[in-house]
Amino acid sequence: MKLTDNGYLEMIVDSAPIGICILDAETLVAEMLNHKFLEIAGKSKDSIIGKSYWEAFAEAKDYYENAMSEVVSSGEPFYADEVKLMLVRHGKREWIYVTFVYAPVKNAGGQVTKVAVWVLENTAQVHQRQKVAAEREAAERERDRLYDFFHQAPAGICVMSGPDFVYELVNANYQALLPGRELLGRGMFEAVPELKGTPLEQLLKDVYTTGQAKEFSELLVPLTDFEGGPTVDRYFTFSYVPRFNTQDQVDGVFVFAYEVSHLLQSKFAAEQAGNNLQQIIDILPASVVVIRGYDLIVEMINLSNLNYWKKSKHEVLGRPFLEILPDLADQPFASQLRKVMDTGEILDVKESPVLFTMADGSIRETFVDYTYQPLSDITGSITGVLVMSSEITDRVQSKRLLEKYAQDLVIANQRLSAANEELEISEARFKFVFQEAPVAIGVLAGRELIVESANEKILEVWGKSKDIIGLTLEKALPELQGQPFLGLLDEVFTSGVAFYAEEIKAMLEHNGGLKEFFFNVVYQPVMNASGATADILVVAADVTPQVRARRKVEQAEMMLRHALEAGNVGTWSIHTKTREMIASARFKELFGYSPDDLMELAHAVQQVAEEHREAVAEAIEGVIRNGGNYDVSCKVIGHRDKKVRWLRGVGSLAVDEAGQYSTFTGVIMDITDIKEDEIRKNDFIGMVSHEMKTPLTSLNGYLQLVQRRTNKGEAIEGKSFDQPLKQVRHLTALINGFLNVSRLDSGKIHIEKSRFDLADLIAEVDAEYNDLYSSHKVSLDLQAGIYLEADRAKLAQVVNNLISNAAKYSPSGSRIDISCFTVGDLVRVAVSDQGIGIKPADIDRLFERFYRVEDNSNVSGFGIGLYLSAEIIDRHGGKIWAESEPGKGSTFYFQLPIARPAAFRTSD
Ligand code: ADP
Repeated sequence: MKLTDNGYLEMIVDSAPIGICILDAETLVAEMLNHKFLEIAGKSKDSIIGKSYWEAFAEAKDYYENAMSEVVSSGEPFYADEVKLMLVRHGKREWIYVTFVYAPVKNAGGQVTKVAVWVLENTAQVHQRQKVAAEREAAERERDRLYDFFHQAPAGICVMSGPDFVYELVNANYQALLPGRELLGRGMFEAVPELKGTPLEQLLKDVYTTGQAKEFSELLVPLTDFEGGPTVDRYFTFSYVPRFNTQDQVDGVFVFAYEVSHLLQSKFAAEQAGNNLQQIIDILPASVVVIRGYDLIVEMINLSNLNYWKKSKHEVLGRPFLEILPDLADQPFASQLRKVMDTGEILDVKESPVLFTMADGSIRETFVDYTYQPLSDITGSITGVLVMSSEITDRVQSKRLLEKYAQDLVIANQRLSAANEELEISEARFKFVFQEAPVAIGVLAGRELIVESANEKILEVWGKSKDIIGLTLEKALPELQGQPFLGLLDEVFTSGVAFYAEEIKAMLEHNGGLKEFFFNVVYQPVMNASGATADILVVAADVTPQVRARRKVEQAEMMLRHALEAGNVGTWSIHTKTREMIASARFKELFGYSPDDLMELAHAVQQVAEEHREAVAEAIEGVIRNGGNYDVSCKVIGHRDKKVRWLRGVGSLAVDEAGQYSTFTGVIMDITDIKEDEIRKNDFIGMVSHEMKTPLTSLNGYLQLVQRRTNKGEAIEGKSFDQPLKQVRHLTALINGFLNVSRLDSGKIHIEKSRFDLADLIAEVDAEYNDLYSSHKVSLDLQAGIYLEADRAKLAQVVNNLISNAAKYSPSGSRIDISCFTVGDLVRVAVSDQGIGIKPADIDRLFERFYRVEDNSNVSGFGIGLYLSAEIIDRHGGKIWAESEPGKGSTFYFQLPIARPAAFRTSD
């Protein structure tokens, strides 16, 4: 019977929503199939019906042929669930997803006669599913990204919902703003009760009711460090953004907040620094003003300058220079200021007149020395000028007065000699001018410079009485011998040209002692009728006090500058009442803070090593309470850099002028090196005594043994002395080492040169070494015939030191290689071991005196061998160094110049 015989069945099969194909079990020839099957197969009916199944579906044969055979032979069905398959459909290769079954159809005898292929295509579903999965993945990624943003955003972010502002989401940064506070699920004013009743509450409610976002910058928000604690002023820049629900109603608020307290603190600190600067420039004896920009805006000004301008601070700050002093507009200053900004060149002007118009219309004439110095901004472009000036009106006026007197006198004198009839009037006038003048005046007659007349003032200046009149100047003022004045006067006499000098120094005898004076002087020649110099008129103004005052200021300034330059000393000042501390940048650096950090006294004390902290705190309190001096050295651990430093602070209490409070000020310096040296020295002494004791103890033992044997009359073999001899050599080497160090210290180490073959020397040292210790296998690779002109004994010491170090720092029985060879016109010696090696950090320091690698402290030694070796090599104009791989071994090298061939040697 053929299934197809049954028309009804055929109809069912044909209309089934699943692809069906019936094969003959033996031949696998397709006997029947339905529409759906054809649709899935994408092939014509003819290419399947009546054909072997694997002919029709050759592309699937390799994958499912076996399964099909299994079905026929076993009688068990084969299921393939949503497998991916390549089919040639409508002549095109296509990847599709199908679920199919090969179902055996058995006859009554249980024999498989047919195979039914049931197939369902899932391609569209699978694609749809894949699409959904991809979309979901993208959505998840987006969500993760948002989540990451939310949590990692550099701002504090939170979402508060409902009119009670219940924290719904809080990111880590927001939580960090309120450490330890339980936020989630609590209303904002419940979790942060200190905000209740502050303006912030109303602002937040406004955002909620109006739906309008708000931003705040640098707003003061007093918060407690913990619930119920005292509030601390903190500053935030933040925004409140309303959240809308689907009905467009506000149902929550997003908060984005940054804390800016530290920024503001540095702003305050900068203001403080500006304030300090103002105080400093106010103290300066010169006038200072800082002018910015082409409009010449006054940015900063000190008291002295305000006094000079006769203005108050609020009249000038922030205003253009020419608006402040319009009467200076037709004087050169404004254009000079702009020129300095244009060219960047310093302008230095002396004795410049400056004219001010006074309120009553009168002119105030002043004189100044001034300097315009260009100022650049942070980008380096010049945008301002520092003006420093000093008013010298008095000086100029007294100089002018002086000149006027001199001229008047000359005129008077000339009239005197020229017109006899006027004699009386002139003399009277002359006498008046002469005697009453506030400046020193004298007349020196003839080339011998006889003091012809001298007014009160000049006698006072000279420190002499009227008795000197009639004497030569040389006799009157013997102290002038060796000073320039006699020569100058003589020259004026000869040349007839007046001599002017300012602030010239003179040593004059006053009350039996030589004193230093400074004068502005004029030596005015007075001619006789024939035009030759007859007398010299001396006019002098004593400017000693001014010069002294100026010098003092200059000196103080210089000292300050030196102190600033030395710069390695930190300074502090502590207000004794408030305990507020002002620390210099260096001070902060020494405590491991950076210069911008805010640093209080408590911070400094906190960095002091625990073992010293209490003592330091007590010492500070002691000085603040009882006065006296502070001088404390202590160990300090750097705040940021964690560096251990030894610092010494020296300070004392200074009472302020008004006696209101006092400050504890002082300087602090880094004494780490000194301290470490001290510690090293102490360790060294400890080590030395230990090192020396060991061989001495054993020597003592050997000697006692020998003594006992001799007492008993026993014979003593030569060998019994081997050990004690070794100890004696060891001791001798130790002592020699120390002697050499102390000779080095006193500069007494001498190099005695001779000519020798380096290979011989190394072989000798090695032999000696082998004699003493045989713990290592030493192998030599020496190039013979390299001659040196050097101190043989000292180089032997170097080689010996390198060999014994190699032995000391490598396991017994290991190899030591020594080689020497030429490199250009140098000879290089290398000593290699297979020992513990040296860490890179230590390798450069090995040659320092007393330097020992810390973890080798179990091996005896003092850290002087390499130091001495380096000194010796250095004195031979050579070089010594080491290379090493920790754990594998080290090679020490030294290198020296080779001696010139004997034949060419010049005699020494
Ligand atoms: P010491 O008496 O301590 O050996 P040195 O000046 O000769 O003094 O050596 C200084 C330090 O250098 C030693 O303490 C040791 O740590 C290190 N050192 C010297 N030679 C070697 C070497 N061959 N291998 C490893 N470390 C060495």
